[in-house]
Amino acid sequence: MKTRTKIELIPASEYKKQQREETGRLFTTTRKILIFHLFGENVKTLNGSPPGSTTSYFLELQSLDYKYKNGKTKTASQKIYQIKGLRGMFRHGATQFCAKVGLDVCHTTEKEADKHGRSFQVDYLHPAGECTSENAIIPRCIISSIFGSRGKEGKLKIYSAPIGDIKHKTANFPIHIQDVKIRVENRHTATVENRIAQDFSEQYFSGNFTIELDVSKLSSAEIGLLLQAREQMKALGRGKNTGYGHLHWLGYNLVSRTQETMDEWNEDSGFFELQTIYQDKVNQDLVNEAKKDWKRYMEEQSVSHLR
Ligand SMILES: [Zn+2]
Repeated sequence: MKTRTKIELIPASEYKKQQREETGRLFTTTRKILIFHLFGENVKTLNGSPPGSTTSYFLELQSLDYKYKNGKTKTASQKIYQIKGLRGMFRHGATQFCAKVGLDVCHTTEKEADKHGRSFQVDYLHPAGECTSENAIIPRCIISSIFGSRGKEGKLKIYSAPIGDIKHKTANFPIHIQDVKIRVENRHTATVENRIAQDFSEQYFSGNFTIELDVSKLSSAEIGLLLQAREQMKALGRGKNTGYGHLHWLGYNLVSRTQETMDEWNEDSGFFELQTIYQDKVNQDLVNEAKKDWKRYMEEQSVSHLR
């Protein structure tokens, strides 16, 4: 069955007007999505080096064929990559923020100390999953609830469309690709008597990109935490200490996204599935509500912490 996707960024009120009769509709899903808009400087979310190589690249997904118009239609291909580490960045940032304001939440590790016996424990944090273990004596914390811990699934899903350094600006891709600049940097780590003893290459990207968080299952306070935790997320990927991977948070939208899948028919291809995506901005009140609920949650928790 062929699938065609059409994205219509129209208000939900219009969508309701356009709703067709039940016949032909296969399914409809509506999700609440928090979309962050960012600019990343020299971000290296590297996937390690293949054996025997000193070059680290991004996680390459594939080469995607596309058509572009240059007088006549031609076909070319584009390498696309996944931005790694986004879930970890949000989890770590939210955990750090909770620790900062004195909330008892899951640490990023289940271990209490490293192999040298040095403690991982930070004030207020419990080992990951302690709040969801069989004989837990503390209630499930907000970090575990959002991100999951020790076999218990979290409620948050994170997605970012693949990135690529798009050569042909008129390229027509079958899926959304985020256009960024991708470069390879050669670095030397050691020189002996003016000769390079060790060198390596790393790939980095710069540009605008978006991260989409499916927050349909999150409570209002949990959404508030994700909005606030951004202040702990200043960089992404490797080389943070040398100023690489700096993030600029440009803004965000909370949207309601409805995806409708229908059976359609035409003379040329017979039956095919048509996916239509409708997107509408969520009322600003919900964002304000999330911020207030998060503040209230913090106050309640710190009160019960003192008791
Ligand atoms: Zn926990």
